[in-house]
Amino acid sequence: KDFRNEVRPNWCPGCGDFSVQAAIQRALGQLDKEPHEVAVISGIGCSGRISGYINAYGFHAVHGRALPTAQGVKLANRNLTVIAAGGDGDGFGIGLNHFIHAARRNMDITYIVMDNQIYGLTKGQHSPTSAHGFQVKTTPHGNIEYPLMPAQLALAAGISFLAQGFSSEVGKLVDLIAAGIQHRGFALINVFSPCVTYNKVNTYEWYKENLISVDDLPDYDAADYGRAMNLVREHHGLVTGLIYRDATRPAYEDMIHNYATTPLAASELQLDASLFEEAVKEFA
Ligand code: SF4
Repeated sequence: KDFRNEVRPNWCPGCGDFSVQAAIQRALGQLDKEPHEVAVISGIGCSGRISGYINAYGFHAVHGRALPTAQGVKLANRNLTVIAAGGDGDGFGIGLNHFIHAARRNMDITYIVMDNQIYGLTKGQHSPTSAHGFQVKTTPHGNIEYPLMPAQLALAAGISFLAQGFSSEVGKLVDLIAAGIQHRGFALINVFSPCVTYNKVNTYEWYKENLISVDDLPDYDAADYGRAMNLVREHHGLVTGLIYRDATRPAYEDMIHNYATTPLAASELQLDASLFEEAVKEFA
């Protein structure tokens, strides 16, 4: 299946988001999905453009609102594979409350965040995941705030699938995204995706030196919540791989009482024009 389209991304050469786009396309192909079975819903930011670069249904939502839009899409058509995507500013700044509630709600959606620890589209301001001391034009004396750690927050919010990837490791990223899509519930794949234009600290080299992988921990068990939380805290969130998975928790959709067997999007709408006219008269 070809999830590529004719649109040429206008990301800067070397941007980590190219790898994420390729990994999503390859994961969907690997899972034998068809483009009409997939919807990609994105927020605002450089990474938010991704919904236009994948041959599937796409919607570029407003800032921070990829997740509520994606949840609406999923409820209207449960047969779709729904992927939400965006950046660290979009998802962990303005959209943070949606992330917490989506994680605890556990709807069957895969959320892919391209985390570059900076606002790239608006030309290089510090973001919620920027490190303490990080120096850019908005923090000329170094960032006085401490960073939000998406992995730690996700675990605290009750997420049922947590993985982190790195743009330089596309093969592993494909597997993580495919596993997230196959997981029945809310899956976060937080990707360390360097902004080569504005973030001169968290470069590909920096991540290579600082990331550790659960794949290198022989006794690691992704079902162990306490171990996952400790690992993430000990390594300041700089951990890749499948960090946590609870396969026993039911998805939100599976708990809705009397959830219609036919998705709303495929139902015959019984519209009564007179009701509409009456409502218009009432508010005229
Ligand atoms: Fe990527 Fe940064 Fe360029 Fe945006 S500004 S496209 S995040 S490299």
